[in-house]
Amino acid sequence: MPVLGLSKEAAVGSAALALAAAAGFWAGRRYHSAYNTGTMKGILAKNNPLLQYVLDHSLREHPSLKKLRLLTLDLPQKGMLVCPDQAQLMANLARLIKARKALEIGVFTGYNTLSMALVLPEDGRVVACDINEDFASVGKPVWKEAGVEHKIDLRIKPASQTLDELLASGEAGTFDFAFIDADKEGYNDYYEKCLRLIRKGGIIAIDNVLWHGRVLNPRKDDLETQSLHDLNEKLFRDPRVNITMIPMGDGVTLAFKL
Ligand code: SAM
Ligand code: CA
Repeated sequence: MPVLGLSKEAAVGSAALALAAAAGFWAGRRYHSAYNTGTMKGILAKNNPLLQYVLDHSLREHPSLKKLRLLTLDLPQKGMLVCPDQAQLMANLARLIKARKALEIGVFTGYNTLSMALVLPEDGRVVACDINEDFASVGKPVWKEAGVEHKIDLRIKPASQTLDELLASGEAGTFDFAFIDADKEGYNDYYEKCLRLIRKGGIIAIDNVLWHGRVLNPRKDDLETQSLHDLNEKLFRDPRVNITMIPMGDGVTLAFKL
């Protein structure tokens, strides 16, 4: 059954996570207990009416974004898609800070890249980093159709290399917004480089910081979880930024550069 015209189990973990949290509160349990009872997809599958309400009353999805989301949901890797309400939050923040230059670390089919490009000014630019051109080729025609292709600078190579190139070409302190959403073991490196590339007052959004609840009990041999947990610990004490960790999607931390 379609969720919010969002169709399929839709990439809407975000509200699902919030609901999981709420469910935990209502049941008088600890916040994280709801995560332990199932994955976000499991919660979504229940088609929770409150989740439906949240989405029905907050998501204003551009038709091109909706088209790209539906195309992406046909792919076996659809689970990597950013949650649309989270993309909307980040676009709203980018608009709020009058962002002109953005970084996307992990493009996939380019949903969030498109969402950003739609809110940047005509001379704005999203430097979009991925190692997989096939995924990006799903989004490219939709970027073009939406009339924002010229704002997207797609770089197919390891993100770390692209960030080094931007630093080497003197672009430190010139970006307004960054979204870190590629390989989890690379997060600390991406964060450090983004922090140099972002201006004061700019925002770095770090995705999947709750990693389906696994950060609660990171196993030593689970390098992805360990990497996310270590970065969460570091960010909590990092005097270079103010932070907010939001239980939206799979958890997103917003770091505001001081
Ligand atoms: N932000 C995307 C969206 O809007 O839906 C989702 C990104 S997906 C979770 C992660 C992406 O990171 C994949 O497309 C993958 O190819 C890419 N990736 C993995 N390792 C990478 C690396 N070392 N450098 C750049 N991209 C990488
Ligand atoms: Ca993600």
